[in-house]
Amino acid sequence: MSKVLIIGGSRGIGAEAVRQFRKAGHDVVFTYHRSELDADALRQETGATPVRCDVKYSDSVRIAVEKAVSVLGQIDVLICNAAIADFNLINEIEESRWEEIIDTDLNGVFYCIRYVLPSMISRKDGCIITVGSMWGQVGASCEVAYSAAKAGVIGLTKALAKEAGPSGVRVNCVSPGMIDTEMNASVDETAVEAIKEETPLCRTGDPTEVAKAMLFLASDDASFITGQVIAVNGGLVI
Ligand code: NDP
Repeated sequence: MSKVLIIGGSRGIGAEAVRQFRKAGHDVVFTYHRSELDADALRQETGATPVRCDVKYSDSVRIAVEKAVSVLGQIDVLICNAAIADFNLINEIEESRWEEIIDTDLNGVFYCIRYVLPSMISRKDGCIITVGSMWGQVGASCEVAYSAAKAGVIGLTKALAKEAGPSGVRVNCVSPGMIDTEMNASVDETAVEAIKEETPLCRTGDPTEVAKAMLFLASDDASFITGQVIAVNGGLVI
């Protein structure tokens, strides 16, 4: 049984990760930012512990990690799942919105790792899972900020796997394709149909399919896997 901290666990893929890790018998603390009601419902459903955190702010992450350690004792598995997305031409995106996306999607990952990694290194054991995106791999038109942040997450994952591997810490990235969550609520139906047509498996993904990849990467079955980008995208980006 592992002690798992899931950052951004209140909705979508993160909430499904909370369910899957609890179902597999792990102790789970998860963070929420705005969705307090969803977080409370998930606590009642799964027995996992919610903690509020805004990943844009280092202090907020530090306090959330301290609370998670006080509940769990230690953190064996860290999943950096929180992110926001936006659709905008690069010349139309406000600088403040650019900063918000980079702060949430990339700097937030850095803050989480910064506060969790030292104790993993001193125990010479730990698993970090970042969450990228197929757009971080190939770039998406009108999603330059998001694509840049997610490409950064992939680079961070590979570099950290090299740095932390000798200390017994594995670092991998799960990179989803189009998954049915609220993040895609504003994508119009024609665009969704076009993506399905381009996808070899001819459909969008379910959050459970991403959560199960996380569960695998956190397990002993993945003990020789580090620095990898595991795509869960139906073959859309190969
Ligand atoms: P959702 O929008 O459904 O959920 C996002 C989660 O991130 C929520 O739990 C939200 O918390 C949290 N979050 C957002 N901003 C902050 C913040 N400032 N501080 C802390 N937590 C925050 O997204 P998905 O489940 O769809 O996405 C999960 C991950 O998968 C993301 O990293 C996303 O980029 C990636 N991904 C998703 C794809 C998809 O098609 N859905 C495709 C490729 C990648 P709260 O609601 O409490 O504010």
